[in-house]
Amino acid sequence: MNVGNEKYVLRCVECGKVVKDECTDRCPLGHNSLLRTEYRAKQLTVRNLPGLFKYIDFLPVESHLPVDSGPVTYKSEGLSKELGLKNLYITFSGYWPERHANIKTCSFKELEALPTVVRVKEKCKDTLVVASAGNTSRAFAQMSSLTQSPVVTVVPKCCLDRMWTTQETDNVCLISVKGDYTDAINMGEKISSLDGFAGEGGAKNVARRDGMATVLLDAVVFMKRLPEYYFQGVGSGTGAIACWEASMRIIRDGRFGKVLPKFCLSQNLPFVPMYSAWMDRRREIVPEKDMIDAESSIREMRANVLSNRNPPYSVAGGVYDMLCDAGGTIECVTNREADDAGRLFVSAEEIDLDPAASVTIASLAKAVEEQRVGSQDRILLNVTGGGYERVREDYDLYEVKPCSDVCAGAGIEDVKGEIDEWVREHT
Ligand SMILES: *Cc1c(COP(=O)(O)O)cnc(C)c1O
Ligand SMILES: [Zn+2]
Repeated sequence: MNVGNEKYVLRCVECGKVVKDECTDRCPLGHNSLLRTEYRAKQLTVRNLPGLFKYIDFLPVESHLPVDSGPVTYKSEGLSKELGLKNLYITFSGYWPERHANIKTCSFKELEALPTVVRVKEKCKDTLVVASAGNTSRAFAQMSSLTQSPVVTVVPKCCLDRMWTTQETDNVCLISVKGDYTDAINMGEKISSLDGFAGEGGAKNVARRDGMATVLLDAVVFMKRLPEYYFQGVGSGTGAIACWEASMRIIRDGRFGKVLPKFCLSQNLPFVPMYSAWMDRRREIVPEKDMIDAESSIREMRANVLSNRNPPYSVAGGVYDMLCDAGGTIECVTNREADDAGRLFVSAEEIDLDPAASVTIASLAKAVEEQRVGSQDRILLNVTGGGYERVREDYDLYEVKPCSDVCAGAGIEDVKGEIDEWVREHT
C-alpha cells in the first residue's frame, strides 16, 4: 500500500499486511495476530514535551496532552547492594516526586491510558469503554478528569476501592459487577458493542502497547544501552510485549546495541496460566491444565491485578512468540515471597510498591539466588506500580462512585438505561 507521509503504519505480525491506522486493532484479513506500529522515524529523539510524550516519535498519536506522567529510570543503590548486583536499573511508574515520578494513579496503566485517549480522540471519536481489575480503570478515570473526555469503566465490585482520582470528576460512568475480572470484561464487551462506544482493545490496542513501551525507551535513554535482562510481573504480558517491540525499534536505531533483552516474566501463585503453559512449551493455554480452580486461585493471589484469564499468549506477536524470539522465562512466585521481596524493596529503595511489583522483585531475588543472572549483568527492573502511600501525603483522593451495580452475567438491558442517561448528560 502507498503509505504516503503517514507518521506510522500498522503491520500484521502474521501475514505482513500493512494498513493505515483508523483506530484499527485487527488485521483486515482476520488473522489472530497483533498489529504492530511501524514508525517512519528510525531513531529515537527525545522531544521537549511533558511526561511520556517526550517519546512521541514512537507513539501512534499526532498531538499530546499537558500531563506530566511518564516512567522514570535510575540506577539502583539500595536493592542493588542487597542483591549483590552492580548494574541494576529501575524504571519506576508511579508517584515519587523526589525522583520526579509523577504518575498520580500510581501504576504503569497510566502510560497506556494517555496515548489511548489521544488516539481515540484523533481517530475514532467513540466513547471509550474500559474493563479492568481496577488499575487500568483508575488510570482512565484520572485521564478523563484531566481531559474532560467521558469514559465508561467496568470494575469488579471487590475492586471498587481502587477507583479514585486526585481531581474530582463526573465524566466517568463506573459500572460495578459482582464477580471477577473476567465478568467485568464480559460486561465491558457488551457495552462496547453499543453504537458510539468502543472497547479499549486490550493488548491489541497499539496505543496501549506503545505507551507501555516508553518504559524501555526511558531505560535505554538513561542506560545508553539495551538491558540484557528485563524483569516484570505479568498478568496479560502486554507490558512485556510492548517492551520487546520497543527493543526491536531500538536495535533498528543502531546506537544502543544489537541484542534483544531476555524477558524474565513472573506470575503470582496459585494463578499462573502462562507459567504453566510455558513450562510445557505449549503455545496454547489449556484451561483444564493451566487454570484449575481459577476462581479460588484468583481469590488467593496477593497481586490480583495479575489475574488475567485470557492473556495475549498464543496470538501471533504475543508472549509465546516473544519468549521464543528474544529468549527468557516465566517464573512463579508465592504470596509469601512477594511480601518478603516487597518489604526488602521498601526498606532498600524507600518507596511503597504495588503488590504486582513485589512479584517482580521476588522473581529477581530468586534469579540471583539461583544464579540465573550474574552480578555484572545489565538488568532492567520494570517497577510497574508504587507510591500509593506517598500520593496520599500530597493529594486528596476522590472516590469514583458507581452509577450502576450489576450481577456477573447481567445483560446489556440491565445497564443500558443508566448508560443512555449518562450519555445524554455527558457526550
Ligand atoms: C496491570 C499491571 C501489571 C501487569 O501488566 P500486564 O501488562 O497485564 O502483564 C503489573 N503491575 C501493575 C501495577 C499492573 O497494574
Ligand atoms: Zn494478517
